[in-house]
Amino acid sequence: MSEKVAVIGGGIAGVGAAWSLHRGGYEVELFEKGPALGGNAKTFRWTTENGHADSPLLVVAWPQMYYHNYELLLRELGVGITTLPISYFVQTPDGHFCQDGQTSIARRFSREFRRWKRLVAFVSRINDFFLPRKTHESLYHFSYFNPLNLIPLYWLARLFGISKAFWDTIFVPIHCASFITTTMKSVPAVILPLLESIVPLEEPTQMGTWVGAPRQVFDKMTEPFAGHVHVDHEITSVKRVGARYAISDKHGRTYQADKVIFACDASATLDALESPSWLQRVLLGNTRYVDDIDPTFSKFVIHSDATVLPEKHRARILSGFNTYSEIDQAGALECTFVISAQNPSTKDAGVPMLVTFNSRKAIDKVQQRIDLPHSVHAVSLRNLIIMSMSRYLQGKDGLYYCSTFTTPEGAHDLSFMSGLVAAQAVGAPYPFSTDNRNAVADFRLMQKMMLRAGDRTA
Ligand SMILES: Cc1cc2nc3c(=O)[nH]c(=O)nc-3n(C[C@H](O)[C@H](O)[C@H](O)COP(=O)(O)OP(=O)(O)OC[C@H]3O[C@@H](n4cnc5c(N)ncnc54)[C@H](O)[C@@H]3O)c2cc1C
Repeated sequence: MSEKVAVIGGGIAGVGAAWSLHRGGYEVELFEKGPALGGNAKTFRWTTENGHADSPLLVVAWPQMYYHNYELLLRELGVGITTLPISYFVQTPDGHFCQDGQTSIARRFSREFRRWKRLVAFVSRINDFFLPRKTHESLYHFSYFNPLNLIPLYWLARLFGISKAFWDTIFVPIHCASFITTTMKSVPAVILPLLESIVPLEEPTQMGTWVGAPRQVFDKMTEPFAGHVHVDHEITSVKRVGARYAISDKHGRTYQADKVIFACDASATLDALESPSWLQRVLLGNTRYVDDIDPTFSKFVIHSDATVLPEKHRARILSGFNTYSEIDQAGALECTFVISAQNPSTKDAGVPMLVTFNSRKAIDKVQQRIDLPHSVHAVSLRNLIIMSMSRYLQGKDGLYYCSTFTTPEGAHDLSFMSGLVAAQAVGAPYPFSTDNRNAVADFRLMQKMMLRAGDRTA
């Protein structure tokens, strides 16, 4: 009889782990606390003038040059991929900035943009020195010896003559949607070239997105074991009973499994463990999520009220920008994702589709308000240390861990890969053909980050 594995958390990490295990011949039970699979990759059904339209909501796009395994998954599932123009509009009390280089704010900071370019080149040279044998563009290259892991980007930027005003007016409003926070002073400098290649500060870019909404990915992945998917199951206890585990949800429903993969946040994992070890307490109890530090992205409003956008630029933003950030006189930042602007599945729906975080104004035409606790962990040295130490937990007593806190930053490919690596640690093989060398190389690099040498397959 094959082993039964319980997977707790139905985001891309948990669904990726369950999908890979099922393909590897394991029996799986997948538990998700919410009413649908997807985690942060939510699909929202909008009420439009003509009926309904589904769209992505938070996870909207990805840098195709880096998402080797996620795109393999989509091709294998037969989910269409298309490209999405990405551009940002920033409104400040003094004017606006919108990546076309023509605004008064862009002119005011022109010297600092040049310094920013020099900073990117400097960090790239240091990174290349510590990773001289990089084989391909990857999110997964990481050297423990690089001193820029320890140096905050903000400090280095100031050393290069970049002002606090540039950081607050340009860097934070543009990158808050990548880091899901406005508190970025502890982001390590090592990440800068990667960041600039994904979202260059001065130019619009392009990313991949689904033809349609992300729900189809989760539906297709779980179709072969749909009878073993349990939504509305918030797991509150994972208890050792003899050689197996008893897994209980908050309504008292109990299931048995031989092994357990936690694909939920670190605090939910710790809360569920019956008698955690000191290492589990230290690592899971100290992971910091973005909302532990900054509440800006911890609640959002889904709505069709275009008056949150400035009247003067409203039509232009609605038709051409993905993200609108507005800084008020006190320095507080409101951020709106303009879902209807360019997304192929929604641009013809006829109503503005907006998602506003940290709303400072009264919002009309609200479709839903959502709380988003512990969505992604904060990018910081502390969390990088926890991530690399968590390899000492993997597999101990049949318990495994994946999802954002086991990865260096919050990104869909990274979480998906963490699920595949956890499944491999249980015993499932790498699920794709090994023809795509970049995808295999990323998988191996992720194994190195998450597992001890003896736990990795060749
Ligand atoms: C606002 C926002 C925008 C983003 N945009 C992008 C983007 O455009 N592109 C990109 O690549 N990445 C983006 N990310 C990052 C991306 O969402 C994540 O990296 C990835 O989707 C996280 O997947 P996950 O499975 O690790 O975690 P999650 O998606 O958080 O899934 C964890 C799941 O565990 C469940 N859970 C928690 N506790 C329990 C419990 N006790 N029992 C059962 N289930 C439980 C939760 O309900 C949740 O469904 C974004 C993140 C956010 C927050």
